[in-house]
Amino acid sequence: MKRELAEAARDLAAYIRNLDENLAELPRPGAVKTAPAALPKAKAPPAPAEVPPPTIMTKKPADMDALAAQVKSCRKCGLGDSRLNAVFGVGTYKAKVVFVGEGPGFQEDHLGEPFVGRSGQLLDKILETVLGLKRSEVYIANIVKCHPMKNPADPESHGNDRPPTPDEIAACRPYLDEQLRFIKPACIVTLGSVPTKVLLNTDKGISLVRGRSYDYPVEIVPGRPIKVIPTYHPAALLRNPNLKRDTWEDMKMLKTFLETGKIT
Ligand code: SF4
Repeated sequence: MKRELAEAARDLAAYIRNLDENLAELPRPGAVKTAPAALPKAKAPPAPAEVPPPTIMTKKPADMDALAAQVKSCRKCGLGDSRLNAVFGVGTYKAKVVFVGEGPGFQEDHLGEPFVGRSGQLLDKILETVLGLKRSEVYIANIVKCHPMKNPADPESHGNDRPPTPDEIAACRPYLDEQLRFIKPACIVTLGSVPTKVLLNTDKGISLVRGRSYDYPVEIVPGRPIKVIPTYHPAALLRNPNLKRDTWEDMKMLKTFLETGKIT
């Protein structure tokens, strides 16, 4: 009996030691989340079935203005029937960095410009305070150019946004790659999970992928891969201010790249 009690006490002590070690590895409440150190170099992540492959336009426009005109009259997917305005993009065609979001929302649809409203104001603030850049010195666009709505019959209602479907993304994707071919940026910043999954051809969420840079899997400039820096969508920062610190880190990485050409 005594021996059994001693063994049970030893087992219990070992269990508690093990528990302590596991608890020590858990992040403390409020601790800053760091980039996952063990992430593999994901230059060619696995392609999830629902992400459309990169595409090339068969009818090439002469320049960005011709491309914008094509987008304005496009009806390649159902979003073209319900949009108020196609939202082509904004900024300079000489931008070193292109920011890519998911798709236009209510205000973007009404104004025909990406990232207006509270998310857009926060993006402008990030550009100015961290990068020292104005909206007019970068380029901002979306994966899809027309507003995806839950109820397409009611473009005047708020709270009607939804993510674009894989078919809508596949239909619209060539426009973005063509925009990149005209701009030839050094870097793309993907804002949130949808553009990150589509442009990096990965099924991993933004929190797993951010914190480092990748090569854009589509060759835009022969022999010079465009760097991709994924970060959170400004709307996510408005919902959860704890994400700001990670976003600032990502933007500092971008700033260093723009200033020195070096990137992690
Ligand atoms: S979302 Fe893109 S593909 Fe669909 S209608 Fe608009 S511009 Fe055309």
